[in-house]
Amino acid sequence: MRVAIIGAGFGGLCMAVKLARKGIPHVVFEKGGGVGGTWRVNTYPGAGCDIPSHLYSYSFEPYCDWSRRYPGQQEILAYLEMIAAKHDVRPRFGTEVTELAHDGTGWLVVTPKAAERFDVVVTAVGQLDRPSMPDIPGMDTFQGDAFHSARWGARDLQGKRVAVIGTGSSAAQLVPPVAETAGQVDVYQRTPNWVLPKADGEFGPLTRAMFRWVPGAHRAYREWIFAYLENTVFPAFVDGWSTDVIRKMALVHLHREIRDPELRRKLTPGYPPGCKRIVLDSRFYPALTRPNVELITDPITRIVPEGVETSSGLRRTDAIVYATGFHSTEFLLPMTVTGTHGRDLHEQWRDGAEAYLGLAAPGFPNLFFLYGPNTNLGHNSIVHMLEAQVSYVMGCLDLIAERGQMEVTEGALSTYTTALNRALAATVWNRGCRSWYMTPTGKITNNWPRNARDYRRFTRRPRPGAYNFGTGR
Ligand SMILES: Cc1cc2nc3c(=O)[nH]c(=O)nc-3n(C[C@H](O)[C@H](O)[C@H](O)COP(=O)(O)OP(=O)(O)OC[C@H]3O[C@@H](n4cnc5c(N)ncnc54)[C@H](O)[C@@H]3O)c2cc1C
Repeated sequence: MRVAIIGAGFGGLCMAVKLARKGIPHVVFEKGGGVGGTWRVNTYPGAGCDIPSHLYSYSFEPYCDWSRRYPGQQEILAYLEMIAAKHDVRPRFGTEVTELAHDGTGWLVVTPKAAERFDVVVTAVGQLDRPSMPDIPGMDTFQGDAFHSARWGARDLQGKRVAVIGTGSSAAQLVPPVAETAGQVDVYQRTPNWVLPKADGEFGPLTRAMFRWVPGAHRAYREWIFAYLENTVFPAFVDGWSTDVIRKMALVHLHREIRDPELRRKLTPGYPPGCKRIVLDSRFYPALTRPNVELITDPITRIVPEGVETSSGLRRTDAIVYATGFHSTEFLLPMTVTGTHGRDLHEQWRDGAEAYLGLAAPGFPNLFFLYGPNTNLGHNSIVHMLEAQVSYVMGCLDLIAERGQMEVTEGALSTYTTALNRALAATVWNRGCRSWYMTPTGKITNNWPRNARDYRRFTRRPRPGAYNFGTGR
């Protein structure tokens, strides 16, 4: 059996390591020039995780030397590079998969250079890989440097006048360090976010030694973070006991850091906490009070060669940073995916992506999605979800070896989707906000509506009754 893995981020690497351990031949296709995915491309100043890294890392590769609770991009990337080197994962870099086509018994994986046949395909292309740019009149007329936050490269904005468009997690992380050296930073906000302080801190040599040498210490710490996030943050998404606690904590943080009542008013969200992803950052509010930073809430009318125009006039700028997120709901695009009988996956998903456990779709046998539809979390580690998915796929490979190629049934997907939608209806994600979790028509395609423990339970092993088995492997 040969398996194609598409993507070499947390998901693709995990899949490759598990396949290698079982001696199953596989190829990892990666369009970029290295491993790491999210953590290779998001090099903007201040980029880091908002889930403590002792949990935001593989359970089978515990790392005791994280320098701090919430490390930066470089340290997470170094961890992933270390994993790839240790397990000898060698992706085909610079190789974008443009098409997947089922030929009745297997998959043709098409790249600009070749087409190759595999029995099984596992996509690990992420939900936040393709930058989304806004559609503002005149964007192409701007004469300075304009770029997306995920395309920062090695820029230096020292002394420059900078416009940051957007106030989500990336903007909140990059505004404070940029403001330290830039001449002026204009932050353009459409909708305020709920912001909680980040309880970050360094791990000293003694703590690191304890994680390394005291039996069970590292594992206990991981489990404690996991349980804490499940039991305190998750309930807020389903209007549970912590909604008010989080709201109060965020308002206390806002009042403590922002003295100006007008600025405070502009920064106070009008929807429940958790509806959009909660920003976890202690430095964002203080940065907004710096003399060289201004929060602008007047809608942008157009971009002109010299800068950004709002209803209150032109603000000149040397650089525009679009911290405007990703094409999160357009799963697998721009790859074309053709299943049995010429079925087009994107046509099937035209009203919003749906997959059984986020992993499989009818009409597409032996094709599995990692971090697929409705498997994102607002409160816990995506690595936990990816590991659950990888172990599920490994179970599927055993079934395929025994019974032939497997395709989830329409009935299994429909029963699953009904339950999923019922659970989604009880969440705060459609209570008066627009977020990257939903399609333009308001369907929530990204988030898992239950806690992370439940997802692990549901994906413990594949249920053969949910699948049809056929010829081929
Ligand atoms: C700035 C930022 C901060 C984040 N912080 C957190 C956090 O704190 N906690 C958390 O749980 N999650 C966080 N996330 C979500 C994060 O994306 C996931 O946690 C995780 O990194 C996803 O891994 P992945 O392998 O599924 O996808 P990615 O890391 O996105 O990797 C996908 C890979 O697939 C490759 N690829 C895509 N299409 C193709 C193709 N057609 N052919 C070949 N290769 C392809 C890409 O080049 C990329 O390398 C964050 C995301 C961002 C953007």
